[in-house]
Amino acid sequence: MSITSPVSHSDPKRCPLCEQDNQCAVAAGNKPSNCWCMAVKIEQQAQHRANTIDGKKRCLCQQCGRAF
Ligand SMILES: [Zn+2]
Repeated sequence: MSITSPVSHSDPKRCPLCEQDNQCAVAAGNKPSNCWCMAVKIEQQAQHRANTIDGKKRCLCQQCGRAF
C-alpha cells in the first residue's frame, strides 16, 4: 500500500514543520485571540525554521511551536 499522495503544500491549517493539523484559529476562521499560540510562548528557533520553509505563511502546530 502506498500513501505517497502529493503533499498539499501551503495548506494554512497544517504545520510547515510536521504537516500535522496546527489548530490555528485564524486558518479555521476564528479570531486570532482565540488561537492557542496566544497562550504559549513560541519557540524562536521553531518559528525561524517555519519561516525558512514556508515564508511565514503558515502557523506552527502546538508541538513544534512550544519550547522543547
Ligand atoms: Zn508541527
